[in-house]
Amino acid sequence: MNEQQRRLLATAGLAQLRFDAPMAEYCTLRAGGNAAALVDVQSTEELRRLLVLLAEEEIKFFVIGRGSNLLVTDSGYSGVIIRLKGEFNAFAVQERGPDFTVVKAGAGCALGKLVSWCSGQGLAGLEFLVGIPGSVGGAVRMNAGAWGSEVGERLLAIEFVDKEGNIRHSSAAELRLSYRNLALVEGEIGKTAITAAWFGLNYDQEEKIRSRCAAYLVQRKGKQPAGAASAGSFFKNPPGDFAGRLIEAAGLKGASCGRAMISPVHANFLVNTGGATATDILALAEQARAEVFARFGIWLEPEVQIIQEANA
Ligand SMILES: Cc1cc2nc3c(=O)[nH]c(=O)nc-3n(C[C@H](O)[C@H](O)[C@H](O)COP(=O)(O)OP(=O)(O)OC[C@H]3O[C@@H](n4cnc5c(N)ncnc54)[C@H](O)[C@@H]3O)c2cc1C
Repeated sequence: MNEQQRRLLATAGLAQLRFDAPMAEYCTLRAGGNAAALVDVQSTEELRRLLVLLAEEEIKFFVIGRGSNLLVTDSGYSGVIIRLKGEFNAFAVQERGPDFTVVKAGAGCALGKLVSWCSGQGLAGLEFLVGIPGSVGGAVRMNAGAWGSEVGERLLAIEFVDKEGNIRHSSAAELRLSYRNLALVEGEIGKTAITAAWFGLNYDQEEKIRSRCAAYLVQRKGKQPAGAASAGSFFKNPPGDFAGRLIEAAGLKGASCGRAMISPVHANFLVNTGGATATDILALAEQARAEVFARFGIWLEPEVQIIQEANA
């Protein structure tokens, strides 16, 4: 982004704009370079205005949620990172049937908040998301899942704003949902902002829903490094196997590079032990990949979205 474009952004009436934003502050891995600008948009109207401006100026952008599956390389990102706040945090029952309820959730909602609210309403089906520190938008984009369930199983439709600023809708049938991915049948998902999602939920007693949530949280605590800065599972599980099992079998539990370490608790968690750079983390990930490939002939694919100038 050049100086003139920075001035244009600064005078565009955006409610929350930060230049040279250190992405380590916005990602759970607590590492990464600066984004030229970061905008917290508060409404669909503000988002549309921003996207139109960026399209006119040919400034690239990237929408993020709570940064829990994300790593920006240390060289940073020369475009605009957008987060959805304000009206995008709302959720409500949209339609109530005899045995099925439709809930509309804004993309900026924290998953934990949504699941807790659903429990209070006696709405079941999203309990598996408890403990995943992402947003609705991020969970939809990643088709987040746990304990044998995925977001796609409950997703009815999404609303999104395309890169020209048009508001669009897609039913689940018009989306391609796969393991930790969502794609549009038409258009490029990476160049859109998912603004809301509709979920189909069943009724159950609040007590039972909350007790399922509690059980999932207990299981998570036993299997994952508590309190460590990470992005959850770094690699996707290859078909029929587990990335964590392979990395552990390659003898890499506890291996480190700079301040990045393969968690001794769960080998698919790469953790920042304090002050790791994105370069440390990526070097460690490459070491794990190379070692697993050398031993088992399996090439692990990152689940974490890596933002670097070349691909973003
Ligand atoms: C401790 C821990 C445990 C985890 N456990 C799980 C787990 O059990 N299962 C699981 O699936 N994941 C897990 N994760 C990973 C992560 O939390 C999920 O992938 C989550 O859904 C990402 O949401 P986010 O809002 O943080 O997205 P981000 O990390 O901010 O973004 C991830 C991707 O989604 C895109 N994106 C985000 N919001 C939008 C939007 N509104 N419109 C368009 N694109 C968007 C971004 O561009 C990026 O490509 C875990 C992470 C941690 C740190």
